[in-house]
Amino acid sequence: MSFAHRYTGLIDRYRDFLPIRDDTRIISLGEGNTPLIRLHNIPTSLNKTVDIYVKYEGLNPTGSFKDRGMTMAITKSLETGNQAVICASTGNTSASAAAYAARAKMIAFVLIPDGKIAQGKLAQAMMHGAIIMQIQGNFDDGMRLVKEVADHAPVEIVNSINPFRLQGQKTAAFEIIEALGRAPDYHCLPLGNAGNISAYWMGYSQFYQEGIVNKRPKMCAYQASGSAPFLRGHPIDNPETIATAIRIGNPQSWDKAWNAQRESQGWFDEFTDAEILATQKLLAEQEGIFCEPASAISVAGALRDIKSGKIPEGSLITCTLTGHGLKDPDTAIQQSTGPVLKVKAELSAVKTAILENIS
Ligand SMILES: *Cc1c(COP(=O)(O)O)cnc(C)c1O
Repeated sequence: MSFAHRYTGLIDRYRDFLPIRDDTRIISLGEGNTPLIRLHNIPTSLNKTVDIYVKYEGLNPTGSFKDRGMTMAITKSLETGNQAVICASTGNTSASAAAYAARAKMIAFVLIPDGKIAQGKLAQAMMHGAIIMQIQGNFDDGMRLVKEVADHAPVEIVNSINPFRLQGQKTAAFEIIEALGRAPDYHCLPLGNAGNISAYWMGYSQFYQEGIVNKRPKMCAYQASGSAPFLRGHPIDNPETIATAIRIGNPQSWDKAWNAQRESQGWFDEFTDAEILATQKLLAEQEGIFCEPASAISVAGALRDIKSGKIPEGSLITCTLTGHGLKDPDTAIQQSTGPVLKVKAELSAVKTAILENIS
C-alpha cells in the first residue's frame, strides 16, 4: 500500500477532458489545484447573506492563471516538434511562457510594451532566459506583430489565441465545481484579452454537458474604464489603466466573450483605477489576500452588484483572483497608506509605539 500522492499538475489531473495522448510528454510545474478561499470579513460588513469565494490563481507556479494555459500550449508545441514559441504580453503571459519554455528546453520570444510592465513579471521573464523584445507600442501592437511574424518565422504563438491555452485554462472551472460540489450562481472575473472568460465558460459548459452539474453560472466580467472595449462596443486605441494586465484595447477572444455573456445571461461592467486599487487594498487588509490590481476588479464587481441587488441575496459567487500581488510591488507600495514608523532601537521606543497603536 502506498500513501504517497504527489500532485503532478492539471494535465495529469484532467487528462480525460483534455486533448492529450497517453504517451505525450507533459511539461508541468505543478500548476492548478489552487485554493478556493471563502471570504469572511468583507461579506460580514456587507450585511447581505451571500457566499463569496475567491479562486486564488496567484498561487500558480509563476503567480498567475496563465500557467494553466501554458502547460498545455508548451506541452503541445513540444509534441509537434517546435523549438521556439512567441507571445505578446502585458507581463504574466511572458513570465509563464518563459518558465515553461525553460522547462521544455525551448526558446521563448516575448514582446512586451515599452515601460508598462510590472517589475515582478519582467524579472521572471529575464530570469527564465526568455528573449525579450520591448516594443515601442502597447499590447495590441505586440499582438498584431506576433500574429504577423508567426507566418514568416519558425515560432509558435502561445497567446490565448492558441487553442490549447483555453483548454488548459478551463480546468479552473472544473476545480471550482469539484470544490463546491456544484456550480456557482455567479462567476466574476477581470476581462482583458478575453481568453479567460472564454475558457471558464468552456469548462463550466463541459461539466454541464457531461451531466456533472445541472446548471452553469452567470458570467460577470469587468474592465478598467480607461481600457473597456467591451463596454464601448468596439476596440479602442490607447487603452490606459494602472491594472496593466488588462490594459488591452483590441481583445482577441471578442466573439467568444460575448457568447459567454449572452449564453450565461451575465454582464460586463467597468471600474475606475481608484476603485480597483481600493478593492485590492480591501482584500489585503480585510482578508489577508494579496492579488494584483487587475485581479481585484472581480471582487469590486461582485461587491457592487451585490450591493445594488443585481446579484440577489442567497447567491453563491466565485471570483477569480488572476495574479499575485507580489507581481507589482511598485503599485502596492505607492498606494499604501499604512505608516512605516521611524523608531529608535530602544525598548522604551518600541513599547511606546505599540501602546500608541493599540486602541
Ligand atoms: C492575463 C490576465 C488577465 C486578463 O485575462 P484575459 O484572459 O486576457 O481576459 C487578468 N488578470 C491577470 C493578472 C492576468 O495576467
